[in-house]
Amino acid sequence: MKYLFILLVVLVIIWAIKRGRAKPSSDRPAAPEAAKPSEMVTCAHCGIHLPHDEAVTGEKGVYCSTEHRTAAQDRNPN
Ligand SMILES: [Zn+2]
Repeated sequence: MKYLFILLVVLVIIWAIKRGRAKPSSDRPAAPEAAKPSEMVTCAHCGIHLPHDEAVTGEKGVYCSTEHRTAAQDRNPN
């Protein structure tokens, strides 16, 4: 019974820590990222879907990485 009480106290402490850490994000439920979901694009080389923010732009299309842009024999238009 004594150990059960200690276990309960530990669980309450863990719960309190998690709750404390989660609080800053819960204070602002309308985060910019949640309000504006990034447009998904497809890598022209491997076909993987990724957010447009993380995509690498080439002359022929967009890619998931500079490696795939190079592999597709494309280059940065900039
Ligand atoms: Zn790719």
